[in-house]
Amino acid sequence: MAEQDDGLRELYQEVIFDHNRSPRNFHEMDHASHRADGHNPLCGDQLTVYALVEGGVVREVSFVGNGCAISTASASLMTEAVRGQTIDQVEALFQDIHAMLTQAHPDRDLGKLEVLSGVREFPSRVKCATLAWHTLHNAITLARDTAQTE
Ligand code: ZN
Repeated sequence: MAEQDDGLRELYQEVIFDHNRSPRNFHEMDHASHRADGHNPLCGDQLTVYALVEGGVVREVSFVGNGCAISTASASLMTEAVRGQTIDQVEALFQDIHAMLTQAHPDRDLGKLEVLSGVREFPSRVKCATLAWHTLHNAITLARDTAQTE
């Protein structure tokens, strides 16, 4: 393993530890327009994702729950990454994250979310990393359906 790769890996681990230790947007949201529950029975991760969607834009995302470091860090990173994005942008990001974690790396740079890419080497942890994203996806798919009836 090259020295540079080890440095990158350490940086990635540091970001994950930090987000696990102090998760961002870790609270319930009374004014949420949408919420969904997620459960990963393989690891025991459980979380609830709240979203405030207005005019097709995700204004705020928060979460609560109990999970391992990877699931908590992934949820925390997600709440920061999707804020202010349209539902279509969030859906595209969900697809790219899923690809990054399970298949090949997508063409575009995923910024801070790249720290999750190391999980691909540990197939048993992939569901930990994707749990929050699947849960948000479920929540905003409902938002999209609502939007279409307007
Ligand atoms: Zn887990």
